[in-house]
Amino acid sequence: MLKEVLKQIEQRSRFLLTSHARPDGDAIGSALACCQVLRLMGKEAEVVLHDGVPRIYKPLPFADTVITAERVNGKYEAAIILECDSIQRTRLQGLEDRFLISIDHHVSGRPFAHVNWIDPKAVATAEMVYRLAREAGVAISPGIATCLYTAVLTDTGSFMFQGTNEHTFALARDLVLAGADPVHCARNVYFGHSTAKMRLLGAALSNLHREGSLAWIWVTSEQMEHAGAREEDCEGLVNYALSIQDVEVAAFFRELPDGSFRVSLRSKGQLNVAEVAARFGGGGHECASGCSLEGPLAMAVARVVAELRSHPSVQ
Ligand code: 5GP
Repeated sequence: MLKEVLKQIEQRSRFLLTSHARPDGDAIGSALACCQVLRLMGKEAEVVLHDGVPRIYKPLPFADTVITAERVNGKYEAAIILECDSIQRTRLQGLEDRFLISIDHHVSGRPFAHVNWIDPKAVATAEMVYRLAREAGVAISPGIATCLYTAVLTDTGSFMFQGTNEHTFALARDLVLAGADPVHCARNVYFGHSTAKMRLLGAALSNLHREGSLAWIWVTSEQMEHAGAREEDCEGLVNYALSIQDVEVAAFFRELPDGSFRVSLRSKGQLNVAEVAARFGGGGHECASGCSLEGPLAMAVARVVAELRSHPSVQ
């Protein structure tokens, strides 16, 4: 399928690149890197995202070239959708009638595009972009390496999540040799938070609930407002609940302005949380997934906890 993707790219010259709304490190890093790879192949390419680049990814090379929009208007010959399993999750209008190429590593990845390259064995979509660049004969510049390394660093949970293996470190090594500075990348990601995020973390942890091998936390819209926090400040909070000894699965509930909830699920490996999220119309990976539920909070929590409890590994 890599060869097919490359063939389709070679036949065209103007590309739009995008990813899912509320982009994470792999979404941003893969899109920025892939855009540069296409440019080095002599193509015109632009990254368009529904939501802007989150604060911690703003120092990435080329991040200032990202176009934030609700609708795609340009005369692009193809849209490459990275790290995303549907047009809807991009939240961008105007993609429907275009030639679409999907590059994704989610287990729950669906073949929604004209060309679908889905490889759940890749630790990050960035790994696939790296393979694409190699196949295309494009030399990885330090800027591209920095974007890809940051994507791998964040999507593997700092080389901690299931699936991290010797190939991940070989990839990281290649990227460092190509010019990614691991200290600099880590500093931006882990020491670049806003004060609001830390206040929000405090609020979320004050709502910590623990029952056996399950732990969950939540933040209400009011707490978000009080902390002066933005949507992106919620990224990673769930990991604090998962970090508790003997907790196998953690959930984070975030209230949306309409009273519904976004849920992040994380597992240490015994339970496939992609399946749990899929029960509620969401998806993701075995160890990291998400979904949306109606409120009120007590109801959303009860439904998710009941679903988690129905699995023997977390009873
Ligand atoms: P997060 O909890 O960080 O929002 O998402 C964790 C993982 O699950 C990410 O890989 C993300 O792309 C995926 N994910 C989160 N929410 C959804 C959803 O509603 N649908 C699908 N298909 N995947 C999701």
